Amino acid sequence: MVYIEEGADLDAFSSAYGITLLYPEAKILLPHALSPTVRLTINRFKDLLEKKVIRKKDLSKIERLFLVDTSNLKRAQQSVQNYLTEKTIIDIYDHHPSKLKKSGNLHLYIEKTGSATTIIVKKIVEKGVQLKPEDATLLLLGIYEDTGSFTYNITTSEDLKAAAFLLEKGADLETVRTILERRIDEKQINIVQQLIENIQYFPVKDKKIIISVAYSKEYIPDISAHLHLIKPFQEVDAFFAIINASGKISIIGRSKTKDINVGKILSFLGGGGHYAAGSAMIKGMTTQEIKTYLENILIGEFYRDQKISNIMYRNVIKVEKSRIIKELKDIIQKVPVIFVVNREGKFEGIALSKVLKESIRHGIDDIPVENFVIDNVVTFEESMPVAEAEKYLINSSQDYFPVLRKGYPVGIVSRNYLLKVLHGQVFDFEKDIFITRERIKPKYLNYREKLQQHLPDDVIQELKKIGVIAKKSGFRAYLVGGIVRDIVMKRKNLDIDIIVEGDAIELVKRYAKENNYRYYYFEEFMTAQVTLPSGLKIDFATARKEIYEYPGAYPKVRKASIKEDLYRRDFTINTLAIEITEDNFGTLIDFFNGLRDIKDKVIRILHQLSFIEDPVRILRAVRFAGRFGFKIGKMTERLLKLAVDENLLLVAPAGRVNTELSYSFNEEKVTEIIYLMNKYKILHQLIPEFVFDNKREEVINRLRDMIVTFEIFFGHKVDRVANYLLALMYHLPLDISYQILDRYHFSNGKQLFKLFFSVKGRFRRIPEKNSELYRIIKNIKKDVLVFLCSYLSNEVSERIIYLLKKEEEKKLLITGNDLKELGLKPSPLFKEILEDIFLKYLDGEIKNRKEALEYLKNKYKLNAL
Ligand code: ATP
Ligand code: MG
Repeated sequence: MVYIEEGADLDAFSSAYGITLLYPEAKILLPHALSPTVRLTINRFKDLLEKKVIRKKDLSKIERLFLVDTSNLKRAQQSVQNYLTEKTIIDIYDHHPSKLKKSGNLHLYIEKTGSATTIIVKKIVEKGVQLKPEDATLLLLGIYEDTGSFTYNITTSEDLKAAAFLLEKGADLETVRTILERRIDEKQINIVQQLIENIQYFPVKDKKIIISVAYSKEYIPDISAHLHLIKPFQEVDAFFAIINASGKISIIGRSKTKDINVGKILSFLGGGGHYAAGSAMIKGMTTQEIKTYLENILIGEFYRDQKISNIMYRNVIKVEKSRIIKELKDIIQKVPVIFVVNREGKFEGIALSKVLKESIRHGIDDIPVENFVIDNVVTFEESMPVAEAEKYLINSSQDYFPVLRKGYPVGIVSRNYLLKVLHGQVFDFEKDIFITRERIKPKYLNYREKLQQHLPDDVIQELKKIGVIAKKSGFRAYLVGGIVRDIVMKRKNLDIDIIVEGDAIELVKRYAKENNYRYYYFEEFMTAQVTLPSGLKIDFATARKEIYEYPGAYPKVRKASIKEDLYRRDFTINTLAIEITEDNFGTLIDFFNGLRDIKDKVIRILHQLSFIEDPVRILRAVRFAGRFGFKIGKMTERLLKLAVDENLLLVAPAGRVNTELSYSFNEEKVTEIIYLMNKYKILHQLIPEFVFDNKREEVINRLRDMIVTFEIFFGHKVDRVANYLLALMYHLPLDISYQILDRYHFSNGKQLFKLFFSVKGRFRRIPEKNSELYRIIKNIKKDVLVFLCSYLSNEVSERIIYLLKKEEEKKLLITGNDLKELGLKPSPLFKEILEDIFLKYLDGEIKNRKEALEYLKNKYKLNAL
């Protein structure tokens, strides 16, 4: 079977075809995505190809796997893994350099030619395979395309020779030209004309950018191939063409400069690409919205290097702290925040108009504004670069940031404006535009039965009691989060989280008092916890929108609907709720397509800024993906990568990173999670100089097994967190590791690192004799041994395990009591004697208890009583 990659180009396809000429039984597995020229070619050569292509569903065991124009063996193997056997022979034909080495089943044909097809044509010549003119044409297409009709630098004389041979065999240049030219048709011309007419220039920094729009009734394919015809597009640094086909909008972006990364810009719209070329397809937004979005993000790029003073709002209102609140009545109608200053005009803090209005309403207005000052706010210096403000967006939940110059207030920036400036955000989250951009209707399902099957009866009874009280109180109560997800997935989980629309604390008070249960609550977080007599804990929270409006300030949580509460969660699979209110007990509510995503096995965030709002979700995404074997959704993956690229993890609160990593290292699928952390460069971000090579992969895999071994055989509870950290960092100098451990509050783990480094040297030479090896490991802590056994060769680690097992049996061999019975007086010598015997036992000089007693008698001239 011939494997070609998703989105394969003509060179890949021609090469694949060449393989079928060399090996007539070989079939080409067509990927889902093909480049436009490949599609054209397949159309043109339908008859020739009919019997040569195969779909995935028709695959059976693959005897021989050909990869063409790629040496990404991993991806190929993943894609057809179910059909591979140990005997499958693998042939790779590629003209890109590759790190692979040939081995038993793996054959490599890698040459630095302009096209991969060239390598195959050479093989055809060598083998004397007969070609029909049509075969020759098809092959020639690949060579022409990848060498840019022999004009790219990578073209070699081999390519020309191969082409000459194909021409001799009757290849038809007319066909090659029509396919490669992709003639422009009427409809395409119409679009191009509109794009020219609607050009708008958009200068950013010293760069010139065009945004242009065109409309059509139907989708017109392959426009991108013709955009180079538009002269103004050629002249600017970057352009975006927005094509609206009855609501389905495609955007094509091209750039000549790394300063304008069109792939990244479009990735915020769910598209992607690299700096020079990108595209996105969008439904549910208007052309104008998209234009505004692009403009905003371009402005954002512009503003990144600017100073805060360039974007701040200057017209701020300052009042002296002794001013009486009621005098401020008019002022606070106009602005949401006022600056409170001292007599010299220096910044003291801010006051929220909203709060002042409330206090006036309650008649508390005869006091100085000082009483309502919030002074622990994050402030910006006016000279700070805008990009630097980013970390404050994440770490604090302030809505406004005062800007100061030497302690005097000079302006203010709002959180929303900063987000807009930095991330081109134009979405209004209150309006529920989440990633799917579909406005989905909530789904309601009857989960009564399933709930009752899944949870123990006594828990169901409690939930029902809660539901009854909720109903009586006029509240609604829902089971939410991980437990609902796990009920749907039929996984064990008894972390009971309940969200109350209404007042969780009031509900808990009634419920706990009625039943005489223990409980406590946090007024400021609007959460509570009840402990049942069985010890089971139930967590309650009031449905809410935001945790803080200001650090340390006023009402800390804003009540909200269950939907709003679920909307602020991390992934769609965690947004399911099962209502337990008496009149609707057991109804599952799915607002955000969580059920579909569980079924499709994907992790998806709810909106574009999710990772920016909370970078810890990056770690949670890979943890859930690893644990459940789920994929990460396409857009989610893109935004995750983006968030990693933007170093957002580095500004995430260290304590929360610690928690998430600790969870991950304690997960059963820890190695899968580590692979994902590596794949998304998360580890590289957390650990400078991190490398993930074969050795480390092996250590991590062995560590997982070794932990199980130690826990089962030696009943030793292994510190998994410290051990995995060591597995990830043992290649780094100790002081660097310490820094990282300190930064993420893993200081407890330092001990293991220190011990490992102090004993590591002892294993440079491994003694033959068991007794000597035992002497080396004897005083080493089990946690260190776990790691050593994963790190040293298999053979040595097996010996160590053997010795540890023997050590467990030491008592069966001989004890101090035996010595006493033999007439020896207890003394420090006992230990030495026992040790001496044990070492002999390890070397096989003493085989059992009988021989041990024998030896004792001889050596110490003792007589059994
Ligand atoms: P687990 O099975 O690991 O406990 P869980 O989904 O219950 O998984 P928790 O960490 O217990 O995860 O969190 C409970 C719920 O709180 C989650 O289901 C999720 O909806 C929400 N949550 C937790 N962390 C975040 C976060 N960083 N951002 C948004 N929502 C979160
Ligand atoms: Mg949980």
